Amino acid sequence: MTATGSGTVPNPTSAPEGPVRLFAAGADAGYSAHRETYGHLEIVKGGPGLRAELERSGLEGRGGAGFSTARKIDAARQSVSDRMFPASAVVIANGAEGEPRSIKDSTLLRHSPHLVIDGLLATAALVGASRMYLYSSPESLGALRSALAERRDTRRITLVQAKETFISGEASAVVNAIENGIALPTDRTVRLTTSGLRARPTLVHNVETLAHVALIARFGGDWFRSEGVGGDAGTRLVTVSGAGQRERVLEVPGDARISDILEAAGVSTSVVSAVLVGGYHGTWIPADDLSVVLSKAALAPYGGRPGAGVLFLLARDECGLQVTASITRYLAEESAGQCGPCLYGLDALATLMERIASGRGDHGLRREAERLGLSLIGRGSCHHPDGTAGLVQSALSAFASDVEAHLTGRCRRTARV
Ligand code: SF4
Repeated sequence: MTATGSGTVPNPTSAPEGPVRLFAAGADAGYSAHRETYGHLEIVKGGPGLRAELERSGLEGRGGAGFSTARKIDAARQSVSDRMFPASAVVIANGAEGEPRSIKDSTLLRHSPHLVIDGLLATAALVGASRMYLYSSPESLGALRSALAERRDTRRITLVQAKETFISGEASAVVNAIENGIALPTDRTVRLTTSGLRARPTLVHNVETLAHVALIARFGGDWFRSEGVGGDAGTRLVTVSGAGQRERVLEVPGDARISDILEAAGVSTSVVSAVLVGGYHGTWIPADDLSVVLSKAALAPYGGRPGAGVLFLLARDECGLQVTASITRYLAEESAGQCGPCLYGLDALATLMERIASGRGDHGLRREAERLGLSLIGRGSCHHPDGTAGLVQSALSAFASDVEAHLTGRCRRTARV
């Protein structure tokens, strides 16, 4: 079967059935296993085909922010056509995975690198990009080098090693790292799709997003939507870890319940007291609510979203406040130190959480943590302060009774981060 990256009607007849799509070619799939499973994807420049299928699919980014993939591509295409002086676009596959509790991108790059490469090539053709980059964590470089060497259509793809920091995967940090080797976010008043790498229109897509693009290019938007629901169409990769469980990655439909995902991962919900959803900038969901669907719509009442697909488990004997205090300290230390509110505010927030978790504080600490968190939102060049403040707010709400117990010195649980 051959499909084109744009221009013709995709063919869903040989598409993978069921929710195992991204790993359908098996473990460590080489180029021949990849093509036997999915068929050859002929990349053709221009034409409305893939753009229309992406719109139909409803695919949203899988890196955390959850933007519409079609809209983002439109923005880059518009920037290219608006230019007085022509400058071709750049497409970057972002596999930095700075989120400590996520291994989904490295797992995808190891087992299905050719889907990511196909998606990168198809997206580049769609926006007329002349340069492509694969920005990868150190552990995935070997698999990517081998995959690139297996094919003849990867000449214009440059492999770049990502820094191992929490914010190395933030889109403007990715562009900075490729441009000057410094993986720090920049204060952006202009979108990257307008002016990014060397002032060119730049698309930064998470590697899982690009792998889905490769499948949509072959099998179409309607096929993609045959799993999942509404704004959470298709499948997503999820990393389950914590509570002494073996870290593992699952591909699940967009409408899967958290409890069903844990069951599929071999985890009994009876050993879990809460789950941190989305990553270290995520939201705590208490054990009583684990039947909630891992989707944007279902998590919205909790102030959460699927984010980078992280499900970090809190065991029954662990203290959610102590774990949150440890994570907040880690996030404070990961501040790039460029913005005062982030550098000093996150340190102060971590200290407040440590005092609450230690049980030696007073009742004013909770109010102070809430006030400080709110004052940090929107005060950084990137979303690091917002995400950290959101985590703290979520902990104070999800573990409200534990806060009371701590402030009267009654916590008997432990921290295990
Ligand atoms: S908000 Fe924090 S992490 Fe983001 S750019 Fe500023 S100092 Fe760096």
